[in-house]
Amino acid sequence: EQLANQIAAGEVVERPASVIKELVENAIDAGSSIIDITIEEGGLSFIRVTDNGAGIEPADMETAFQRHATSKISSSSDLFKIASLGFRGEALPSIAAVSRLECVSSIDSTGLAQRLLIEGGTVTANEPANAPQGTDMSVRDLFYNTPARLKYMKAIQTELGHITDYVYRIALAHPGIAVTLKHNGSVLLRTLGTGDRLQVIAAVYGTNTAKAMLKVEGETSDYDLRGYISKPELTRANRNGMTVIVNGRYIRSHAVNQAILQAYHTLLPINRFPIVVLEIGMHPSLLDVNVHPSKMEVRFSKENELRTLVEQAVKGALGQVRH
Ligand code: ADP
Ligand code: MG
Repeated sequence: EQLANQIAAGEVVERPASVIKELVENAIDAGSSIIDITIEEGGLSFIRVTDNGAGIEPADMETAFQRHATSKISSSSDLFKIASLGFRGEALPSIAAVSRLECVSSIDSTGLAQRLLIEGGTVTANEPANAPQGTDMSVRDLFYNTPARLKYMKAIQTELGHITDYVYRIALAHPGIAVTLKHNGSVLLRTLGTGDRLQVIAAVYGTNTAKAMLKVEGETSDYDLRGYISKPELTRANRNGMTVIVNGRYIRSHAVNQAILQAYHTLLPINRFPIVVLEIGMHPSLLDVNVHPSKMEVRFSKENELRTLVEQAVKGALGQVRH
């Protein structure tokens, strides 16, 4: 069991950013409207994610950290219509296997909470505590007991870059959630959770960028598109400003990026790229997210229909400007 968790950790927990991704996705699945992320030294020494979501029942605390313990799907047919971000039940045991993890969680506002401490996969405390509703996860000394993995960690700035990249995108994906990211005491991101995606774009890219965005919209009977693309005067030299969100999940999709660029490059030089935040909604059965443990890669069952829709919608948005 311990070994299986360490092996799974190798797939799920590649670096501090992957820990944050898993903890934040759990917070979103728990229905949180506020998520605070605090890290130190690029997440290598300290990661804390607190939320105001549903919390974990005291009696379920230890179970949540067991392999394949997921409260989110109950049958294999659920795998074909996944609505939550998590479903593999692998993240918590994997993180706990390679760190010192403290979880304090409460399911209501009575103040009664449960505190669980796991060090290198071994439970060292499971006791009543006091906390507001929600879950508070602290991960210390990541990879302290897997020196080979620790050796692969890059400079703090590199790890921080991976973290901000993920947190910015998850904030863009969920404008209704107030997200705060702090590193070594300074605030790197604060969104308001008002549901206004332009506010999040302003927090991530600056107010001037937010002012230079065009609305992208479109739908078919299968897909629903909404989002923003930057005006042609605001181009970038790389694709890092392209964020695609599918059913609330930030993903990487070559097909969708190609469709966006197909439309964009009818107007602009092929070495220039837009800032774009595109949210695609669809019935979960049209989407396969169970392609890779990181759940970053997905497959669409009607990819051509989606590509055409994206291309048309982006052309429509860019058609609003004069050249
Ligand atoms: P998965 O997300 O795939 O279900 P995880 O290992 O990430 O698996 O989490 C295991 C279980 O712990 C979840 O199914 C959920 O019931 C519970 N859990 C984890 N994090 C939270 C949280 N922040 N709030 C409420 N419940 C949580
Ligand atoms: Mg999870």
